[in-house]
Amino acid sequence: MRELLFCSNNIHKTEEIRKMLPVGYKLMNLKEAGMNLEIAETGVTFEENALLKAKTVAEKMKKDCFADDSGLCVDFLHGDPGVYSARYAGDKATDADNRKKLLHELSNENNRSAYFITVICLLLKSKVYYFEGRISGRITENERGEGGFGYDRIFVPENYDKTFAEMTPEEKNKISHRYIALQKMMLFLKTTGS
Ligand code: IMP
Repeated sequence: MRELLFCSNNIHKTEEIRKMLPVGYKLMNLKEAGMNLEIAETGVTFEENALLKAKTVAEKMKKDCFADDSGLCVDFLHGDPGVYSARYAGDKATDADNRKKLLHELSNENNRSAYFITVICLLLKSKVYYFEGRISGRITENERGEGGFGYDRIFVPENYDKTFAEMTPEEKNKISHRYIALQKMMLFLKTTGS
């Protein structure tokens, strides 16, 4: 069993990635690896934040690891909330607060195009590799669905009618930004025999 250390405390993301991994891989997040660590995301790009998380963990654990940074970029808002997606409505904002603020910013706006992005940073034998996944779609007028997390209730992927939150985890995990980025990393690990 090949163990992968995922630099995150986010249970939703851990579960999503765990379900996406092929047989033979075991995923451990920070808590499961016995690491109690909050890493401030002070970067201004997804790459910077992902690297920051991966480097901090690799230095502490003396282990190869990967980190992801993700967010929602809305065209009408020139890419916001972007890297600030988790804190869009303030430092202590809940997912519900962030969705409410975004729907308010887009009220009466027809251009509702957006995309989710994930950047994975893999630290392997002291080398840095990046893998990116994106999915385009649009922001709904109202919340729909109960599944998922974050902005899932207000994002409908291109060529679909359902929000991410109305999909089953299996449906979302087959098309999501996180899935696309992870597939790229897994292909890299496989083809390089790492
Ligand atoms: P992080 O910085 O990568 O932990 O993610 C930033 C924020 O982006 C999360 O707190 C969510 O609000 C949002 N986000 C990232 N991925 C998703 C997703 O798959 N669905 C909904 N929201 C997401």
